[in-house]
Amino acid sequence: MRDGRASLGLALTGALGLALCVGQASAARAQEWSGEEGSTSAGPTIEDYLKEAGPDAKLVNHGALKIDGRPVNCGTRPTVLNSNFDSWGGAFPGFLILNTKKITGLSTAVKLYVYSHECGHQFEGPDETKADLFAIRRGVTRGWLDAVGMEDICTFISTLKGDSAHPPGPERCETMRKYYRELVETEKQRTTSASASASASAPKAQALGPAQ
Ligand SMILES: [Zn+2]
Repeated sequence: MRDGRASLGLALTGALGLALCVGQASAARAQEWSGEEGSTSAGPTIEDYLKEAGPDAKLVNHGALKIDGRPVNCGTRPTVLNSNFDSWGGAFPGFLILNTKKITGLSTAVKLYVYSHECGHQFEGPDETKADLFAIRRGVTRGWLDAVGMEDICTFISTLKGDSAHPPGPERCETMRKYYRELVETEKQRTTSASASASASAPKAQALGPAQ
């Protein structure tokens, strides 16, 4: 990966999302960019990034990206598919990066989590926990995250080490799992009270005759 394309390395240095990122990569390499993580204002333009990433990178415009058949979006931001990117996904100001090679084989919920985490940086800034929670909230409100998916995400993230920007994987799992439970619980209470008040006030149907 550090193949002498210095300009690409330089561009990657500013990436925000790198995020999930640190993973099992060698500590030295992780250090290389984790120090720069967190800048929401610095980064290449998408044109420059595409130029530097080379012919394998592919631009997917807003509205055209599907993950395992499910359309996804991050506001109106485009995504660059780059199989040479250091991490599963990344975020520069104004666009997202997905490493198609690295996410292959992950479950759909984990892929959507990766994408949504990077999208979270676009809205929430550099905070890794906020980006994680943004992804979980999206999963619940958009209906792609269930208990099985939550455990898939935990299994995936728990193998990652932490760094200066990222809490250790198991901790991220716990934080997200707790938030997921809260969201599901709130949703349950909302629908229960909604259906209770609906049935209380629901007009009785006109019956043909007395109930039998
Ligand atoms: Zn991140």
